[in-house]
Amino acid sequence: MAHGSHIHIIEDESDIYRLIQFNLENSGYSVSISVTGEKGLESIRSAPPDLVLLDLMLPGIHGLDICRILKSDSKTNKIPIIILSALGEESDIVKGLELGADDYMTKPFSPKVLVARAKAVLRRGERSPDDSETIKIHEFNIKHRERIVEVARAEVELTHTEYKLLYLLATHPGWVYTRNQIINEVHGDDYPVTDRSVDVQVVGLRKKLGGSGKHIKTIRGVGYRFEPEK
Ligand code: CA
Repeated sequence: MAHGSHIHIIEDESDIYRLIQFNLENSGYSVSISVTGEKGLESIRSAPPDLVLLDLMLPGIHGLDICRILKSDSKTNKIPIIILSALGEESDIVKGLELGADDYMTKPFSPKVLVARAKAVLRRGERSPDDSETIKIHEFNIKHRERIVEVARAEVELTHTEYKLLYLLATHPGWVYTRNQIINEVHGDDYPVTDRSVDVQVVGLRKKLGGSGKHIKTIRGVGYRFEPEK
């Protein structure tokens, strides 16, 4: 899957897209580039790629609008998107993730990290989690059918909400979840939960997990990410 996967970059800065292109092609991907959103949409519709790397600040259509357009069209809504953003665009990152982008990178980024993220996002499409399986990650054993969480073989008592929160994050290692996404996934759309109460839940969960709580990373200004295994 990784080799030969086609990645489309929408980015107007040539230094950046050349660097990304060089590194992705060296890793066996085929790469195409658009320097405006208008051209990007045209290109993606005529030759749908396996992944889109999307800059936000573009001449013409803004990256967030491109994200919205791609995610609302059944022909393109399955194509994963990684947002490329500048520092200080956290609120745009949050909007992008909530529009359905899969991940983001803040410039300047290491090309190696970008290639690893691209690989991870492309891999996601391949596995479908089974509801009854036991999730084993880091020192966690999560027996979903019984709702039992063991950390280094010791059972940890969690509330219903804490369990759902941990299960959501631990079954999607490496994914960034915004607070709104957590609220929607954990409680359903109409449940009146605030951003702050998500933070409170995370604090409570981390406390119960002891040292293993460190695997739940706070992504400042954006949300939370469960650390993938190395
Ligand atoms: Ca730009």
